Amino acid sequence: MTKEEFIRDVGSRIPPAHPDTEWHFREECIRGKFLLYDGKKNKCVCTNCGYEFDIAPGEYSRMHGLQDICPSCDTQAICLSAGRGRKCYEEQHRLLTFAADGKSLWVVSHDILVRFEDFARAQLYKYINEVFEINADEQRHWRYKDGWYSGSQFWEELKSLNVAPLPAAPYCMSKYTMHIFTEGIDEIISNSDCRYLAGEDLRRRMEWSSVVTWIAMQMKYPALELLRKGGFGRLARDRIDGFNYQGAVNIRGKSIEKSLRLPKKWVTALRKAGISEDINSTELRAFQKASEKDRKFIVENFEAWADLLHSYRAEGYIHIIEGVTTLEKYYKYMTGQSRKDAVLYADYIRNAKALGWDLRRKRILFPDDLVAAHDEAMELYEAQKNSLIDKQIREHAVDVDYKNNGLVILCAKSQGDLNKESEVLHHCVRTYGERVASGQALIYFVRKADEVMMPYYTLEIDPLTGVVVQCRGSHNCSMTPEVEAFRKGFEKHFQKMIKEGKTCQTA
Ligand SMILES: [Zn+2]
Repeated sequence: MTKEEFIRDVGSRIPPAHPDTEWHFREECIRGKFLLYDGKKNKCVCTNCGYEFDIAPGEYSRMHGLQDICPSCDTQAICLSAGRGRKCYEEQHRLLTFAADGKSLWVVSHDILVRFEDFARAQLYKYINEVFEINADEQRHWRYKDGWYSGSQFWEELKSLNVAPLPAAPYCMSKYTMHIFTEGIDEIISNSDCRYLAGEDLRRRMEWSSVVTWIAMQMKYPALELLRKGGFGRLARDRIDGFNYQGAVNIRGKSIEKSLRLPKKWVTALRKAGISEDINSTELRAFQKASEKDRKFIVENFEAWADLLHSYRAEGYIHIIEGVTTLEKYYKYMTGQSRKDAVLYADYIRNAKALGWDLRRKRILFPDDLVAAHDEAMELYEAQKNSLIDKQIREHAVDVDYKNNGLVILCAKSQGDLNKESEVLHHCVRTYGERVASGQALIYFVRKADEVMMPYYTLEIDPLTGVVVQCRGSHNCSMTPEVEAFRKGFEKHFQKMIKEGKTCQTA
């Protein structure tokens, strides 16, 4: 609609904002307190109190950007030259105000440009850019569209109830600051259909991006109020934050039981168990689907149950758990543990199995302290795995007696060797353990003959072809000419050994 149509149909119905709005805005919102001076007219003005005074020629000439004190109101202010760099100092603000007409709550968003061009108190240029009308029957939203490129300006009615994002130029922060004017808010709200929202709850919600949506959603879906007041705060919040309930909550339900799609007995049980405030829609849906018997069980072991429900690999964990016990016994056990974490239990069971522990024994299946038992099993398993890998690495190792140009070669014999090499040279040979153990790769350490303990270069060779796959030094650096020559000689030597069958330990 055009500007004129908007003013006639909508604008004329908006009740005036609280009379203190402008005063409040000047007091609280204008950011800078400045002493603006004009070196030509030899005048200075305080933007805080509006006091204008004469200055001596040159008195402020070196004060630009520095602090001074207003002779009238004693405010500490920053001195700005009125003529320097820009025409005048200006700020941009966005302000939400509330008004009510007995039925509708009106929320109006203003763009306010603050300028000091007339060398007195700030001039405010106000433009309305958005209007919301909220009552029990409807929630409407209009936004001003300034198509500066096409020269068209008009008002558009939107379905969404979200406030407009701030205009931001690319590569720079928006210059706007946002404010919500809350003076007399409870009285204003009481004078509209939204009256039951007056009070504490609303004040906590005063966030620029969500307050309007919150009010509008409450009016659109009375079930949200039922949920909120009925102790299911998370469910009410999630809907307003834009989460979809996926059918878990009946948003048009006329009672809390109908909204939650649960009989009274279970609504009360969730509340009594202290679960209601935090339950989310995924949990609620699973709870609705559960049998009567399972529900009782879930209420008693909620945390452990919810953890498994939300686990990314839930199916895998359930498979592991059900391989050794029942889910019922698992939940009960986890409820008594400090960390109700399915990953922890599944890891523990995997390691315990690999170590050959007897999981039929209750002490092993359900250790008193899962965290401690988990860590112990993991350490033992790692040690066992490493000793197996070391054995295999030794089986595949091929000692080569090769020296050249002050360099010697040593074959890696254990995971520990690889770890140390990685640590000193900052490369990733430590991750090659399993490939070396399986005979897919051979790792050699190139060392200086007079510093034979000191890692220098690391070399990977293909045990079948004798080709050097890579040769890296500190931080993966490439070879010096000496090392390059050494590599060539070593490669030749190794390939000769293959031909002669001297490397046949490699499978
Ligand atoms: Zn002043």
